Amino acid sequence: MECTYCGSDLSAYEPVYVEETGGGERVSAGGFCNYACLSAHIETEGLTDGDACAWSPDG
Ligand SMILES: [Zn+2]
Repeated sequence: MECTYCGSDLSAYEPVYVEETGGGERVSAGGFCNYACLSAHIETEGLTDGDACAWSPDG
């Protein structure tokens, strides 16, 4: 599997997998090689502007 954001091979990392909740259904939002890619992806896609689950990379 590759990082959803940067396309790196996740086998070289400890990947972060994310699920979104859309319309009551959980759907995979992809995998990321680290939280930086995840955060960048969220900002790029504007996920924080929608009704996606309140997931924080700062956890
Ligand atoms: Zn990445």
